[in-house]
Amino acid sequence: MKIIKVRAHALEAPIDRPFAFSQSWVDRRVGLVLEVETDSGITGWGDAYGPPLAIAAIIETLYAPRLIGRDPLAGEAIWEEIYNGWRDHGQRGLAIQALSAIDIALWDIRGKTYGQPVHRLMGGPVRSSVRAYATGLYRRTNDRAENHVMLKAEAEGYLAAGFTAMKTKVGFGFADDIALVEMLRGAIGGAELFVDANHGCDLVQAKRLARAMEPLDIGWFEEPVEPEDLEGYAEIRRFTSIPIAGGECSFTRHDFRRILDARAMDIIQPDTASCGGLTEAKRIADLAWTHGARHQPHVWGTGIGLAAAMQLLAVLPTSAPGLGAHQPLLEYDSTPHPFRQDLLVEPVRVKDGVAHVPDGPGLGVEVRRDVLERWRVN
Ligand SMILES: [Mg+2]
Repeated sequence: MKIIKVRAHALEAPIDRPFAFSQSWVDRRVGLVLEVETDSGITGWGDAYGPPLAIAAIIETLYAPRLIGRDPLAGEAIWEEIYNGWRDHGQRGLAIQALSAIDIALWDIRGKTYGQPVHRLMGGPVRSSVRAYATGLYRRTNDRAENHVMLKAEAEGYLAAGFTAMKTKVGFGFADDIALVEMLRGAIGGAELFVDANHGCDLVQAKRLARAMEPLDIGWFEEPVEPEDLEGYAEIRRFTSIPIAGGECSFTRHDFRRILDARAMDIIQPDTASCGGLTEAKRIADLAWTHGARHQPHVWGTGIGLAAAMQLLAVLPTSAPGLGAHQPLLEYDSTPHPFRQDLLVEPVRVKDGVAHVPDGPGLGVEVRRDVLERWRVN
């Protein structure tokens, strides 16, 4: 079997109502869907987290010429060859996000070739269903009272839908952040609550907020400070009783080795469609396991990226096996997105707070070409 065609589809769509995290307002959603065609009639699909037009250019101008004519089942060999081929220019960022899409598509081809879901070829399943948490509760307006009314209703909606855990955004200043987190804790009772600053705090702000949130039973404090400052992460981790999370802006086992060696995070959150694909995410998970850190995948892509995350979740090690073992959660992006789920014939869905791992061949999903064409911008 040989690869005969590689096509990177850059997708983009406006959304009706913008929302904000600590870095900016979001008024459109994007996605990068990769299609790898073989001469056997099997097509593999991948997803990359990141700016789609730039990633598409990297794939089509640099990586695709190396892929044409290659055996798609030699995924690890191809991974190493591409990484090494652009090591001098691309150890992080867009280059690795582009490589992630290729790796995921090659896993999809491998699964379809052997008629097995990816997680079975990766040694699983360790689990066939995963509890999900809702990622949402973003700022909708700069009017605090109005925002609280909307986010309280949103949180209650997640509870009504069966979610037992959810995540909100902080990094808008101490008074605003603590008022929001207190309001949400009151609104959701004993459900799990996570907070994410998207590296929008400095160390002084992060410590003050962490201390004030300690009585509010916060499951983790995500990206409190800038990802480059591993010493800062280690310092805040020692300072607060709230578990510290991060890693969605870090790449490959090399970044995560440094994070883990520095004992900087309790929970690492590589994005499978950004850190180097399923191959690298599994290596990172094994590394986290040996360092006593939890691996909790970041998910923010199309339904294809979500399906890839589910395949990984099916094989993530259970950090400390036992009757009360902690299990990883699915990050279920619940924000507006015109094509995230529509892109698939049968998307991964959360029912009663739980998602089932797709068990069809490969990633276990089928792409709707009409939706792909509708939102394609390249
Ligand atoms: Mg985050």
